[in-house]
Amino acid sequence: MKRIVIKVGTAVLTDNNKLAFDRLSNLVDFIAKLKKEKNYEVILVSSGAVGAGNTRLHLDKKVIYNRQALAAIGQPLLMKHYKKRFREHELVCAQILMIENDFDSKKRTKNAQNVVEILLENNVIPIVNENDVVANDELLFGDNDQLAAHAAYYFKADLLAILSDIDGYYNKNPREFEDAVLQKNVDIVYESQLEMKHTPNSEFATGGIVTKLKAAKFLMNRGIPMFLSSGFDLTNAYDFLIKEDHKSGTLFK
Ligand code: ADP
Repeated sequence: MKRIVIKVGTAVLTDNNKLAFDRLSNLVDFIAKLKKEKNYEVILVSSGAVGAGNTRLHLDKKVIYNRQALAAIGQPLLMKHYKKRFREHELVCAQILMIENDFDSKKRTKNAQNVVEILLENNVIPIVNENDVVANDELLFGDNDQLAAHAAYYFKADLLAILSDIDGYYNKNPREFEDAVLQKNVDIVYESQLEMKHTPNSEFATGGIVTKLKAAKFLMNRGIPMFLSSGFDLTNAYDFLIKEDHKSGTLFK
């Protein structure tokens, strides 16, 4: 049986500062298919709490404490939507809030591992997010890419799939250069590539491609592949993960 961590970022789950319900819905249907058609164990790392919070209260999002407050409001709302949609597939989901430092502690890592194992054994989908109120790494930079890479490694996944606002990794920024070419397979990430400036696409996305490359490097060093494809249109993710046909998207391996 394969174990997969799927990470979905702010840009995919948010639209005009609001939660993008249609994309959340498509994601849930996709995960249900992965479970039913492939019998995969799936752990979801989901952003989107600030966008969900924004539907209930408007605060100036340039202020980091305001973003944390919106995340506190939005996290249960986000989970409510996941719970409702997974239930339509007769699936149960669970919430795990962590900070990256938790993985520095052997004891905390072991606790989390034990709980994740029990959830997966019982066919439950753990939904992991950063605990934004006590840590603001995700809200400042990274957009959960690092958390997802750690989750994939420590929860012993066979693959991390990042569903982003871009359909893969290009030889240069495709939003700047029309002639950028998608790299289907990447087998090495150089340190110099990690020194590029952060280039998130949307206002509240915080990662950009650099944090994805860092996640890929961390996992490749540990023998775990990472797949990057679009979270707007799940066709490539479907082909790769369900049909096992790598038509497009980037495989770091
Ligand atoms: P997410 O919210 O899914 O984490 P981000 O917006 O943070 O996504 O990061 C993806 C963005 O990185 C792309 O939309 C693109 O604007 C930018 N980017 C910069 N350089 C590249 C590159 N070489 N290949 C792909 N995307 C790139």
